[in-house]
Amino acid sequence: MRTQALGAGLVAQSQFAMAPFRLHRPTTIEDARAIVSEHPDAVIAAGCSDLVAQIREGCAPQALVSLQKVDALRAIRHEAGVLHIGPMVTHYAGSTDETVGNTIPNLAAAWASIATVRIRYTATVGGNLMARRYRYEMPLLLGALGADLVFDAGATTRPVASLWADSVSAQRGLLTDITVRTDDLVWFGYERSMRPTATVALAVRRNPDGTLQVRAQAGSEYRHGFALTADICVGDLDPLEVSAQLAQQLPDDCADYTGSAEYRRHLVRVLTRRLLTAACAQLKGTKTT
Ligand SMILES: Cc1cc2nc3c(=O)[nH]c(=O)nc-3n(C[C@H](O)[C@H](O)[C@H](O)COP(=O)(O)OP(=O)(O)OC[C@H]3O[C@@H](n4cnc5c(N)ncnc54)[C@H](O)[C@@H]3O)c2cc1C
Repeated sequence: MRTQALGAGLVAQSQFAMAPFRLHRPTTIEDARAIVSEHPDAVIAAGCSDLVAQIREGCAPQALVSLQKVDALRAIRHEAGVLHIGPMVTHYAGSTDETVGNTIPNLAAAWASIATVRIRYTATVGGNLMARRYRYEMPLLLGALGADLVFDAGATTRPVASLWADSVSAQRGLLTDITVRTDDLVWFGYERSMRPTATVALAVRRNPDGTLQVRAQAGSEYRHGFALTADICVGDLDPLEVSAQLAQQLPDDCADYTGSAEYRRHLVRVLTRRLLTAACAQLKGTKTT
């Protein structure tokens, strides 16, 4: 037991009182942007499922900007071959959304598999990305899909992979949209059966010259995702060969205390082979899972 910071008496060790902070509750993107630029140290709050952990880890906001009332950030639309996903879309809303399901069915299916029921109704895709935790999965799914993150209503656009670049971490701003090109997307899938040790998201796109581009993100709970790519002719999409080609691109620093680089490459080869087998089945017009 210990005494609370605000003198509320004795509490369990796992509890503590937060210092007072100013709460901003904008209702429009413009207002949210204005508050964030006026208070650069303000902490943005979406579903707060990760923020609670951050506060336990020492984050002590003086100002909090809650995005809960900014309905425009919950929009999902498919326009001119691009899927737009608002950062305030919850895991539940995104995985059950008709537009997502119609445009990239396996994204909806993969999205439906992450987090627990209670969390899925509050946790958002924007929070999952911006928390920048290796163990979160949306950076892998959206990274393989080559998604772009749109900040401050279009002032800056960056690929998902930029989340891991420390140089930009201090100047990220307000995430206002997530865009995924669908016009050249042939197939997408996700394998998390070996989580937490290895997970792989994989997208197949058609290049303008008719060849295929395979783009995968291989991650684990302990290391950020690694991008793996291969350009191949349609007839050469041999799951065995292409999975070996992708897995060998994993650098030695994919290793950690739970698995050597060699073991990780083996797992990624197995998972990408499964995904590519499903992709091939669809390309040949066979029903896939
Ligand atoms: C029990 C449990 C199980 C979970 N299981 C999984 C799982 O299986 N797979 C998985 O991937 N994740 C899992 N998670 C993590 C969960 O998905 C994330 O905590 C959640 O997505 C974060 O979203 P949020 O809306 O709660 O973000 P918040 O906690 O509100 O914010 C997280 C961070 O993002 C920033 N942020 C939020 N929105 C924006 C924005 N629009 N612009 C700029 N910055 C922003 C905040 O400032 C903060 O730093 C789990 C979490 C819990 C508690």
